[in-house]
Amino acid sequence: MAIFRLSGVHVKHCKNTAKMSAVRIPVPKTVNVPMSMHIGAPARPIVKVGDEVKVGQLIGEAGAGLSAPVYSSVSGKVKKIDEMLNIAGGQIQTILIETDGLQSVDESIAPFEVSTREEFLDAIAKSGIVGLGGAGFPTLIKLKADISKIDTLLINGAECEPYITSDTRTMIDDAEAVADGIALVKKFLEIKNVVVGIEKNKPECISSMKKALSGIDGATVRSLPSVYPQGGEKVLVYHTLGRVIKEGGLPLDCGVIVMNCTTVAKISKFIRTGMPLVEKCVTVDGSAIKEPKNVIAPIGTPARDLVEFCGGFAEEPRKALYGGPMMGIALTDLSAPVLKQTNALLVFGEKEATPPPVTPCIKCGRCIDHCPFGLDPTAISKAYKANDPETLEKLKVNLCMECGCCSYVCPARRNIVQRNKMAKTMLRNFQIERKKREEAQKNG
Ligand code: SF4
Ligand code: SF4
Repeated sequence: MAIFRLSGVHVKHCKNTAKMSAVRIPVPKTVNVPMSMHIGAPARPIVKVGDEVKVGQLIGEAGAGLSAPVYSSVSGKVKKIDEMLNIAGGQIQTILIETDGLQSVDESIAPFEVSTREEFLDAIAKSGIVGLGGAGFPTLIKLKADISKIDTLLINGAECEPYITSDTRTMIDDAEAVADGIALVKKFLEIKNVVVGIEKNKPECISSMKKALSGIDGATVRSLPSVYPQGGEKVLVYHTLGRVIKEGGLPLDCGVIVMNCTTVAKISKFIRTGMPLVEKCVTVDGSAIKEPKNVIAPIGTPARDLVEFCGGFAEEPRKALYGGPMMGIALTDLSAPVLKQTNALLVFGEKEATPPPVTPCIKCGRCIDHCPFGLDPTAISKAYKANDPETLEKLKVNLCMECGCCSYVCPARRNIVQRNKMAKTMLRNFQIERKKREEAQKNG
């Protein structure tokens, strides 16, 4: 078992927008709503070109198994349904809607009356809510799990990535919704304890959540050291509860459900109003952004509209990311739409976007010292280059959560995360082939 340690790295926080409540962007001219903004099967479009749609109207039915429905974030007309390149590099069916600027709401939207676990889960199935901390895991699947061994609901309020403050603002401006979402999940899943983990560099969030949770039995707020990657699920479970998620296991295996603070706030809003997940708060920041802000935008809003709303560019943009500088995904152009799990758009100019030159490894071991799992990136790199998946398995590269601490501390500026990603793929393919061989042998 790899080691969890209070290592990680002390990153510059750069929380420039922490004091800025979110402001709503004007309705964009068009939105591109992808059918996959979650882990699992894509949703299936149920509208056709030319259809009029309203805010909150179902436009994509959940696919089979692990999936989530998709709703229109605007009112207007469907102009196109086509495959589009998503930010991960795959082609995904996307519905382009030309807006009418009216934001007329679907007539069927109404608050839910829920009094049993089944009714609560039936409602969540219609919410379109996925993990909003970045992972995009369908919330229904998490809540439908076997809850017999669960004793703790752990709320992730760490927001440890530099720049991003969208969860921060939720915990300050929407603390009542976070508390109500917690109360709903706690009640219907019959969970005894609630712990909200917040990094200690967010005192306003800590006091606002303590106040909001005061009426909920068994709910506490835990102040955590400001160490990246405090918000990583396994790291958070260990640092707040002292429990270790075994290799290949889930928080469920050690009695915990982990949910992001904004996700539970959305659950509350959905149950109380009936409006599914159609908009997202996005931190727009970075050296190339003229007026950084927290922006509430309809799902599908192009990144360029966010930039325009934030006063345009302060300098020539060189690099744009959805997400934080440690784990964010680089955008190839600014037409990329805001997704359900998008929490930041960062755009950097020349200085921040130009990486220092890569030099040979000096075997200093800093990458190992700062990895929360004690992985050995230099050995992983060697095994990958030697095309040796068996050694990669022994080195537990599969545990790498791509947090970027190793790259961040490396004096040689080596792109360790990229190498680890490729090594993980090599190991996964090897394990698939090995399983096939074993099954073939078993079947004679
Ligand atoms: S990216 Fe992987 S190897 Fe590097 S510090 Fe994070 S978990 Fe460890
Ligand atoms: S931190 Fe960089 S230079 Fe040091 S051992 Fe790791 S890869 Fe090599």
